[in-house]
Amino acid sequence: METVKSEHSSFCFGVKRAIDRVMKEIERKSHAIYTLGPIIHNPQIVSMLKEKGVIPVDDVTDISDGTVVFRTHGIKKEEEEYIQKKGLESIDVTCPFVKRVRKRAMYLKKHGYQVVIIGDKNHAEVKSVLSYLDNDGIVLQESCRIDARKIGAVSQTTLDRETFTSVVTGLLDGAEEIRVYDTICRSTQVRQQEAVKLAGLVDVMLVIGGKNSSNTTKLYKIAKKVQPKTYHIETDKDLKSDWFRGARKVGLIGGSSTPDFIIDLVDRRVKNL
Ligand code: SF4
Repeated sequence: METVKSEHSSFCFGVKRAIDRVMKEIERKSHAIYTLGPIIHNPQIVSMLKEKGVIPVDDVTDISDGTVVFRTHGIKKEEEEYIQKKGLESIDVTCPFVKRVRKRAMYLKKHGYQVVIIGDKNHAEVKSVLSYLDNDGIVLQESCRIDARKIGAVSQTTLDRETFTSVVTGLLDGAEEIRVYDTICRSTQVRQQEAVKLAGLVDVMLVIGGKNSSNTTKLYKIAKKVQPKTYHIETDKDLKSDWFRGARKVGLIGGSSTPDFIIDLVDRRVKNL
């Protein structure tokens, strides 16, 4: 079976930076290292780090010593305040593109705009940005009219462009003035374009990455619209030979938190089918 791997398949800039920093910390320190929630949305990397002593915790108040690593998509303002108050050591690996969303949203609030965050209200990044607005913001994932004189919008970094455009269009109806910052990160945009292109060239498309990864799930949905035989898998163990009946060319793309070694394992397995 022939496989075609997307050029943009391994860790994005923000994830690579975070993992490199944590690996350095593992070598340097002997005490406990904690992350608030998973540091990235890839279960295989999170369990590999766990074996090296990096423990994900859900509640910051469970941490009383050691080093706390902020996850790539940001932590909440109150969590950061707790860490400072307790004098805990910390490493901030929040991606600069996520910090840019926060900065833009805070700027809009300061200048009197009703802030709208376009994204998933349950995603860690959106919760983080909202907390820095003291929860004074509206989260929208679908087009909806908001009546306010001034509306300022930002997007979750891993949002798809279709949702972004549709929500912004809906906001035009209710505001006298609207200011929009497109804060979808470049890595997300490039990967989404690649997914569409590749899905159109192959008989089966595999999107590889954590089932809990927002950007991987979006890649899957986007690719599936083009190639109905698109499957979202976490590792080579999820592959099913039925999917490839009659297929000659298989496309592979990873989410921004999918390590190269998992993509290579899938590649090898598909080639041998
Ligand atoms: S997907 Fe974009 S925003 Fe998220 S960590 Fe990667 S580079 Fe940063």
